[in-house]
Amino acid sequence: MTDRRTQLAENLARVEERIVSACAAAGRAREEVTLIVVTKTYPASDVRILHELGVRHVAENRDQDASPKAAACADLSLTWHFVGQLQTNKVRSVAGYADVVQSVDRLRLVTALSSAAGRRERELGCLVQVALDAESGERGERGGVAPDGIEELAAAVDAAPGLRLDGLMTVAPLAGPYAGRQRAAFERLMEISSRLRGNHPAANMVSAGMSADLEDAVAAGATHVRVGTAVLGVRPGLG
Ligand SMILES: *Cc1c(COP(=O)(O)O)cnc(C)c1O
Repeated sequence: MTDRRTQLAENLARVEERIVSACAAAGRAREEVTLIVVTKTYPASDVRILHELGVRHVAENRDQDASPKAAACADLSLTWHFVGQLQTNKVRSVAGYADVVQSVDRLRLVTALSSAAGRRERELGCLVQVALDAESGERGERGGVAPDGIEELAAAVDAAPGLRLDGLMTVAPLAGPYAGRQRAAFERLMEISSRLRGNHPAANMVSAGMSADLEDAVAAGATHVRVGTAVLGVRPGLG
């Protein structure tokens, strides 16, 4: 059996190759795309190996799992992204280790994140999560706000002490007009991002694309891809 380090190094090299080819195909420079490795359900020892292999951005989606893992890796220079649906009662904990919260999708969360950041004397980067499967005024099946709710949230983040508006995130929808149409979904996200940048020029981060569809995200113009399975392997059970 290959050891874990060899396995992760091989997987990481394959993902890197995919990003390089996708950038080349899109006429983009490799540096325009940041790889975030989604380490959910995998142990802190894997995070440590990934750091040795050069990974600097990791993401988690559950506070219960993420909080001890981040503590165990506190000596490493890593940027921690929180990408899961976030309940307000977990915000205090998440604000202790997350550098960027990518799943901001309601005003209550903005208020809670701002006060938690203040208490911790930290600045939290925030992405508004866009639900491309949600009707006006609703939230998406996998979290996120409908496109017409973005500006209100963005303005709230912008005005909130301790928070920094970094941009937008989406998960390719499983339902609605964009189901199974990742490329179109990510292109729509880019249009929404252009509009957002009209009012908030610094909010230029676009987080889209996972193991199965990172090429579509890079082609559309994503600045960050979030890859779990292709680096760490298939997760057992939910997650
Ligand atoms: C799990 C997860 C990913 C990574 O998905 P893979 O298919 O394993 O690459 C990306 N984004 C979010 C929000 C996730 O929850």
